[in-house]
Amino acid sequence: MRTVIYPGSFDPLTNGHLDVLLRATKLFDRVVIAIAKSDGKQPLFTLEERLTLVRESVRGLSNVEADTFEGLLVDYVQRRSAHAVLRGLRAVSDFEFEFQLALMNRKLNEQFETIFMMPKDTYTFLSSRIVKEIARLGGDVSAFVPDHVRAALSAKLATLPG
Ligand code: ADP
Repeated sequence: MRTVIYPGSFDPLTNGHLDVLLRATKLFDRVVIAIAKSDGKQPLFTLEERLTLVRESVRGLSNVEADTFEGLLVDYVQRRSAHAVLRGLRAVSDFEFEFQLALMNRKLNEQFETIFMMPKDTYTFLSSRIVKEIARLGGDVSAFVPDHVRAALSAKLATLPG
């Protein structure tokens, strides 16, 4: 059983995340979306909300599981007895940070590999941050996120002051 962990904040999950995830399901027996608590990034959605949105998005994909984690990714990977970590690469601008992260994780634990996958070209400009910004300014994000995520974004933004 080959397991890959796909970690991230998923605040919220976008069609770009889903594109990479679907590609990974063809290569691994099991893909675990591991939602990081990411308190330092002051997420818009709570950890529980992000988990619910991811679960709803992957319903029907039998070899995908959604989970949450706190603390070091390498510890989580070991706990789950996974073989690899998956990260998405959109543009050269992602590379430097991802390169540093992957090599640091290897220093911390040499037992697993980090692999990178590119999304469909139409998603290379997409990020959770930009989707939140467009939604906040009243724009239409229906081409960028699943419909239940779009609805959750409107509901969440309606509760915020200003
Ligand atoms: P993080 O806060 O760890 O960057 P994100 O939720 O923003 O978490 O992203 C999780 C992973 O998904 C990262 O590897 C990121 O590069 C990748 N990713 C995000 N958006 C896209 C996209 N549009 N296409 C491909 N990969 C993406």
